[in-house]
Formats: sequence, structure tokens, C-alpha cells
Amino acid sequence: MIIDGKQIAQQIRQELREEVAAAVAQGKRAPRLGIVIVGHNPASETYVANKMKACAEVGIDAQRIALEETISEAELLREVERLNHDASIDGFIVQLPLPAHICEHTITSAIDYRKDVDGLTPENVGRTAQGLPSIVSATPRGIRELLARYNIPTDGQHVVVIGRSNIVGKPMASLLMQKHERGNATVTLCHSHTKHLKEICLTADIIIVAVGHPGLLTADMVREGATVIDVGINRVPDPNSPKGYRLCGDVDFEQVAPKCAFITPVPGGVGQMTIASLLQNTLQVYGYIR
Ligand code: NAD
Repeated sequence: MIIDGKQIAQQIRQELREEVAAAVAQGKRAPRLGIVIVGHNPASETYVANKMKACAEVGIDAQRIALEETISEAELLREVERLNHDASIDGFIVQLPLPAHICEHTITSAIDYRKDVDGLTPENVGRTAQGLPSIVSATPRGIRELLARYNIPTDGQHVVVIGRSNIVGKPMASLLMQKHERGNATVTLCHSHTKHLKEICLTADIIIVAVGHPGLLTADMVREGATVIDVGINRVPDPNSPKGYRLCGDVDFEQVAPKCAFITPVPGGVGQMTIASLLQNTLQVYGYIR
């Protein structure tokens, strides 16, 4: 069965729209999200535009804070501090990547974890790892939501996560191993130095791939009846497409899909959920503060 991320994301947006409308009807101001973008990276511009649109759709007041490519790290830190103390902003994100002269870790670490709706601060990452209330980074939160809404159990299941990035692989593994009904999985985290990847994948009930290599997960690595979650977003040249490229994931979808109980497509799978989770995180911090 193909998991319809687009439909679930729509459902979530509808739920959030109702939640915001109910809060506003009670006289509260609308939730407010700050989106800091530095420079003119075209992919970042597109992501930010999509986030702004999604916010507008559910009634979140999103403020785009555009800063020059040449901004210094110290100036950007001051902007983060300003947002940390601005009581009219419930949460904010600093769109990554940042220009090379700015250390991303320094910037994300400076965000007040109670406003960190990307869930990237060491505080939120650590709290998630310890099973404490936290803001979970958007893509892992979205994947957990997809599994839950499709009634795909994780309890006692062997989940293989491929990729150890701070935004997907590591927080995903951390979430799924928690003592929680949506966790309780036996997790194996694989990465570029992993030996015998195929043999490990063949023992998985659920495989979550977040690498960025088209076709990395092939049919001979997946056992019958497994669930496959494809996080990868890759552009591959396609002369038949007006844009000259098409998007694909890390999974050889055509060959792998027939073996799976559930599989996410690219596009239309996990990507849709990432923005929906950012909206959920924004409502979460709005709830803390109001
Ligand atoms: P990354 O690019 O920071 O790192 C890639 C990871 O893959 C590394 O941890 C590395 O160890 C591992 N890796 C590399 N080669 C490997 C191999 N041959 N075998 C096993 N592991 C290998 O990771 P990222 O930022 O999580 O991005 C991964 C992919 O997910 C990219 O395509 C990215 O565009 C996509 N992504 C999608 C979403 C979404 O919303 N769908 C969100 C974030 C990232």
C-alpha cells in the first residue's frame, strides 16, 4: 500500500486550522512564527515560500525575516536574541543552510529551546533523547505521525534507519527507541561506514532511508511485507520534464514497492509531512506560552 503523505498532511492542516480558529474565537491572538532567511539560496526561497503558504492556510501568522547574505555571525546572533525575547513571536526557525562564513551550530544553539520549532537545539535534541517533553524536529515527527495514522506499529519492531544526520537519522532513531507507544522499537542506525547494510536491512520490519542517493535501497535489501519510508529528495536529470529534472527518493520504488506492506512515494510522501510537522510544532509552542 502506498502511504499518501499529501492526504495526511492535508488532514493535519485541517485539524490545525480548526485549533487556531477555536483559539482565536476565544479572543487569543493567532499563533506567530518567525522565519529567518539569510541570502538568496533558490531552494531555501522555495522552502520558505511553501512554509509561508502552509502557515497562511491554517491561520498562523508567519513573518519572513530576510537578511543579507553578507550579515556577520554576530549580527545574526543578535537577531536570534531579539526573536528569543520578542513576546509576540511564539516560535521561529532559521532556514538552513546558512552562508559558509556562519556556523550553523552556533546559530541553532542560540535559539531559545522553547521557541525552537525546528527542534534542532541541543536542549530539544537532548530532551527528546531522554524522553522528556520536547519539540521534535519536523521530519522525524512527520514520519512518526505517518506510521501512527496508518496504524503501523513500532512496538517491538526492528527499525533500520539509514543516515545519521542531525535533522533526520539521529532524531528519528532517538524517537523510535523511546519507551512510548509510538516508540518501543529495536533500532539499528546505519550510515556510510556500516558493513553488511543489505543483511541488516533484510532483518528489518521498517526501513527508513535518509541518505540522498537515488536508488540506494534496492529490492534485494527488503524482505516481503516490510514497510519502507523514503526520506531522500534527489533531483535527477529528465529531458522529458519541463524543468529538465524530476524528483526521486533513495529507494528503487518500482522494484521495492511490490514487496512492501507500506511504502512512501517521492514526491507525495515524507516531504509533505515535514511542513505539516512544523505547523504542529508552532501550535505546540503557542500552547506553552498562551
Ligand atoms: P545528510 O545529507 O546530512 O547525510 C547523509 C547521511 O547518509 C550521512 O549520515 C551518511 O552517513 C549516510 N550515508 C551516505 N552514504 C551512505 C551509504 N552508502 N550507505 C549508508 N549510509 C550512507 O542527510 P540528511 O540531511 O538527512 O538528508 C538525506 C536526504 O534526505 C537528502 O536527500 C535530503 O534532501 C532528504 N531530506 C528530506 C527531507 C524531507 O522532508 N523529505 C528532510 C530532510 C532531508
